[in-house]
Amino acid sequence: MVDLKSQYEKIKPEVDAAIQNVLNNTAFINGPEVKAFQAELEQYLGAKHVIPCANGTDALQIAMMALDLKPGDEVITADFTYVATAEVIALLGLKPVLVDVIPDTFDIDINAIEKAITPKTKAIVPVHLFGQCANMEALMALAKKHNLHVIEDTAQAIGAEYIYADGTRKKAGTIGTIGCTSFFPSKNLGCYGDGGAIFTNDDALAAKIRMIANHGQSVQYVHDSIGVNSRLDSIQAAILRIKLRDLDNYAAARNKAADYYDKAFAGNSKLKTPARAKYSDHVFHQYTLQLNGVDRAALRDFLASKDIPAMIYYPIPLHMQKAYLDPRYKAGDFPVTEKLCDCVVSLPMHTELDEETLKYITSSVLEFCN
Ligand SMILES: *Cc1c(COP(=O)(O)O)cnc(C)c1O
Repeated sequence: MVDLKSQYEKIKPEVDAAIQNVLNNTAFINGPEVKAFQAELEQYLGAKHVIPCANGTDALQIAMMALDLKPGDEVITADFTYVATAEVIALLGLKPVLVDVIPDTFDIDINAIEKAITPKTKAIVPVHLFGQCANMEALMALAKKHNLHVIEDTAQAIGAEYIYADGTRKKAGTIGTIGCTSFFPSKNLGCYGDGGAIFTNDDALAAKIRMIANHGQSVQYVHDSIGVNSRLDSIQAAILRIKLRDLDNYAAARNKAADYYDKAFAGNSKLKTPARAKYSDHVFHQYTLQLNGVDRAALRDFLASKDIPAMIYYPIPLHMQKAYLDPRYKAGDFPVTEKLCDCVVSLPMHTELDEETLKYITSSVLEFCN
């Protein structure tokens, strides 16, 4: 699905030197590389504060801890997402309230959010799924009306830009109260291990997030709140500094591959290509087709026989996962998500897809789906 090796080969001299530099300096934790990466990411995103942490799941958890949510408070998120989003809500004793998505862009459904709001609702967690922003202008208006926090899960969309109706743009993750991202190796800005970050433009909130990520410590050995231990290490930061410089080029390469796929599959009634929202550009974390009248398992087997991986993101809606079963929800409650889980398939998507590979992949898919 991703070709991290070819990508690494292209930046190997820089990356190897940067890692060696960290080894020479032995500032493995909170060293100058972490501070430099933080400043460079702030600059890139146009965010006032970036707080690096250990992974994207921690980023979401720390964000929710910083908002002082209380057990029983309701947090609304999409039913069609990676489990981490709902996991941290449940882990903190908050109540995950799931809502459906819209079929063509896979975005959280704003009308469904509005219907799910109760007096106990405290926050909304939109997920910028597969590399494209949720409808943030409508979502922020709704949040403002009901005085709710917004935590953007931008683990799959770092670098994507939200496009306002008046044409102004903001980077994904810098619009809500807090933004959270992941630097897992296969993410669009991936390190060579685990990593994550939290963004906010609010000074007081940034200080609190920093404190929570560092054992709730205000001054050394003085702990003002219960925190966690969540750090980005210096080797990962050094690698991320190099890859951040290429992030826009990486997005362009992904878009080029997506355009190739779109063109190849256009007009095939069995393959619905991913829609591009008018309010977001797309960084194509995933290229996800919706199949219509195609045996998905057989297609995957066929592609596998040709050494082409194809993955299902995601096969089971959150409300049907054993860990998240809840008497509030039953099969049929989120028809869009349930249908998507049955019909989506994601094709290889990364920065190193050349035309020959794309041709091989598309002709194989079409061979099966014609
Ligand atoms: C990857 C991902 C996460 C979690 O990030 P980790 O770094 O793996 O903890 C959270 N949300 C979404 C939508 C993701 O894709």
